Amino acid sequence: MIMSKSLKIALLPGDGIGNEISVELIKVLNWINNNTDLNINLIEEIVGGASIDKYGTPLSDKTFEAISKTDAIILGAVGGPKWEGLSFEKRPERGLLNIRKKLDLFANFRPAIVFDALISSSSLKADIIRGLDILIIRELTSGIYFGEPRGIEKIGKDEFKGFNTLIYTSKEIERIAEIAFKSALSRSRRLCSIDKANVLESTELWRDVVTKVSKKYPEVELSHMYVDNASMQLVRKPNQFDVIVTTNMFGDILSDCASMLTGSLGMLPSASIGKKVDGICNAMYEPVHGSAPDISGKGIANPFAMILSMAMMFKYSFNRNDLFMLINKVINSILKKGYRTKDIFSSNEKLVSTSEMGDLVVEELANEKI
Ligand code: NAD
Repeated sequence: MIMSKSLKIALLPGDGIGNEISVELIKVLNWINNNTDLNINLIEEIVGGASIDKYGTPLSDKTFEAISKTDAIILGAVGGPKWEGLSFEKRPERGLLNIRKKLDLFANFRPAIVFDALISSSSLKADIIRGLDILIIRELTSGIYFGEPRGIEKIGKDEFKGFNTLIYTSKEIERIAEIAFKSALSRSRRLCSIDKANVLESTELWRDVVTKVSKKYPEVELSHMYVDNASMQLVRKPNQFDVIVTTNMFGDILSDCASMLTGSLGMLPSASIGKKVDGICNAMYEPVHGSAPDISGKGIANPFAMILSMAMMFKYSFNRNDLFMLINKVINSILKKGYRTKDIFSSNEKLVSTSEMGDLVVEELANEKI
């Protein structure tokens, strides 16, 4: 179904390569604006280190006010060595965590898809990863990254105690489980819930609640796995998984592991989604990677993770699977023609810059009938 709609989207380039890949994203968004029935109104705001430099805080009220009234947010990446000495609360990454928390973006979607042309970029054998298409759904606004009490305390003359708290309420587990079962229904109807229920009570509750929610979805085959086994299985036989649902910290670690199956961090998009409340933004789309200070300013960053994040936005926020498929098709076709940024380049391929890759996406889009 094609609908004509005016959309307000906030772009937060952030720091480091976030700025470079945002330029390429804008090229693609402009093409979509000019060649489809969508009318996209893009606003740009600052966050992370850039915001610390300008406003003294990683997320200013001005930025939050502006982005919270849009239909979706696209973020590049935040952070860098310049701000590493700051206290935890003032660091660039806090800006990102605060957006997720304030907008209650509790469900993080991280697909790990292997493009055929990139099979040789993975450190695993081709047979193990061919056709890989996993969706990891990570709980994003609770668990050990947010639980209180937390801190580092002095407990003796030269001794300290560092502590964090892993908390989940049944409501928090229920809402992420609902999303995971619905996603499994739209795919191959297999859901694996990952926990450490044998030693952590909060994940014992996780297992109980997910099992309870499964009764509403008899068409979905639910399995449970301990996180240590899951990390081994992801590398041993990743194709056994379809949709995975897990806690904040386990999802953080497992999705980075899954990302390497696909060859490069530069290829991995993500979506963070919350409950729809009228007038308030409930979705942020961003690459899985960070601001890559080691390559920032060199014009070699891969813009695909950012552009694929935008593709997810069309699918999840605007119900435009056609545009999601189109962008994926175009990227696949560019890869098949042998164009590569440095991170996915091996040999005998055509090495291109960040900006040339963005141009190629627009050129390839122009060849498509829409
Ligand atoms: P990183 O993801 O920035 O980089 C890891 C490695 O992957 C680097 O070698 C980098 O060059 C490479 N890489 C990443 N994205 C790439 C791309 N698009 N194209 C080509 N190569 C790419 O992780 P890091 O080095 O651990 O962190 C750097 C900074 O980013 C830190 O300040 C960290 O806190 C921050 N960070 C931010 C986010 C975010 O904004 N969501 C996520 C992770 C890390």
